[in-house]
Amino acid sequence: MSKLNESDVARIYKREFAAAHIIAGHPKCGRQHGHNYSLLARVYGKSEEWLDFDEIKRKVDGVIDERYDHRDLGNMTCETLARQLQEQLSNLFKTRVKIELWETGKFGVETL
Ligand SMILES: [Zn+2]
Repeated sequence: MSKLNESDVARIYKREFAAAHIIAGHPKCGRQHGHNYSLLARVYGKSEEWLDFDEIKRKVDGVIDERYDHRDLGNMTCETLARQLQEQLSNLFKTRVKIELWETGKFGVETL
């Protein structure tokens, strides 16, 4: 993956979705429960170039709707979900993508 330059920009798309999961061995989260996740996908590129915001929306929504929204994610944690989304979206956009994934209004995960 290419290194970021100071002149690069991140286009940001925000998407909410709902899913269930279970964290085996956790005293509270070991019971199946759901979250309303809030995802911020940052798609990096050069500031002299543009990327159609609608294309970003279509691609991110496609991944979320096909694989995650209103699904049972099993024992996937917020951490592994964020990394998985980063990999899938980086491959789709063929550029660096960073993910901010909020599991609640107060706690979330950010990929590096
Ligand atoms: Zn949870």
